[in-house]
Amino acid sequence: MILKNRIMVFERPLLEGADGPVMLRMFVVTGDDFSLIIDTAMIGYEEMAAEALAAVKQWGRPLAMVINTHAHHDHIGLNSWVRGQVPVLIASHAWGSRWIGDTDQNYREFTLGYPDIIQDSLELQSSVRGTMGPGTTMNVGFYGGEQVNLGSVPLEIVDLSGHLPGEVGVLVNDQRTLIMGDAFTGLNMPFFHSHVRPDLYRKTLERVAGMVRSGRVERILPTHLPPWNGSEAIYKAIEERRSELDSLDEALLMELNGESLSLTDLWSRISERWGKAVDFRGLNMIDAHLNDLCHRGLAGQSGRWFWRV
Ligand SMILES: [Zn+2]
Repeated sequence: MILKNRIMVFERPLLEGADGPVMLRMFVVTGDDFSLIIDTAMIGYEEMAAEALAAVKQWGRPLAMVINTHAHHDHIGLNSWVRGQVPVLIASHAWGSRWIGDTDQNYREFTLGYPDIIQDSLELQSSVRGTMGPGTTMNVGFYGGEQVNLGSVPLEIVDLSGHLPGEVGVLVNDQRTLIMGDAFTGLNMPFFHSHVRPDLYRKTLERVAGMVRSGRVERILPTHLPPWNGSEAIYKAIEERRSELDSLDEALLMELNGESLSLTDLWSRISERWGKAVDFRGLNMIDAHLNDLCHRGLAGQSGRWFWRV
C-alpha cells in the first residue's frame, strides 16, 4: 500500500536562459492503483520519455492518463510516441483539443497567425513544427476543479490559463505540490515566453496565491524553471509576474502617448527595449495586451493601428 501519491521528475536541458539553463521536464505521479504522466516534452526527448515510461513500469501501476498541461509543442510533442508504446488516454484543458488533435493547425495558429508580418521559414519549421509529432485525439477535456483518483488521495486539476487560453496544472494534495507547465512564464528567456490572455493570467496568479494562503500549496514544480519552495518564494514569483503584466501595459501606453502606432511598430519597439527576440511569441503577446487595453477602454484600435484613449 502506498501511503502517499509519489511524484517523479525527469529532466533535460532545453536552452540557455539569462539565469542559466532552461530545462524541459516530464512528471510521473503514481497512486495505489494507477500512474499518470504530465507532459510529453517533444521530439528529440524520446530518451527522457522512455525513462518516464520505464519508471511507470517499474512502479507497477498501469498508466491511466497523459495530462498535457497545455498544447504547446514542447509539452505535447511525444504524445503520439507515448501512445505507440502504451495505450493511454490523453487529457488537457478542453481548449487544447484542436491543437492536440491537429498539429498542423497548431503550428499555423501558434506561429503564423499574422502571415503578412511573419512568414513561414525553415527555422520555424524545424524548431516548432519539427518538434511536434502527429496529432492525437484528446480523450478528456478539463476546465479546472476536476478530480483524478489514482487510488490514493485524489489529485485536483487547477485552471492555470493565461499563457494560452486554456492551461491546467495538477495539485498533488497530499504533498501540497502544484505541478504546472508554463503558467508562471519565464521572465529571463531570450524571447518573450509570452501570454495571450492577460486577463486570465491575472486570475491564475490570484488563484494560486489563494491556494498558498489557504495552505493547500507549498511547492510548485514547473516544466522549465527551477521549482518554487515555500510561500515566500511563490508569492515573490507571483509578484514578479504581476509586475511584468503591469509593466507591459505601461510600456505600451507610454509608446502610444500622443501618436498612433501599428502592431508591428509596437511589437518591434517593445521587444527591442526589453532585449527580447522580435519573434512570433512576442507578437502574439503584444497583440493580446493591446486587445486587453482596448477592451478595458484604455486604448483604441482600427485594424492594426492603435492609439491611447
Ligand atoms: Zn508553453
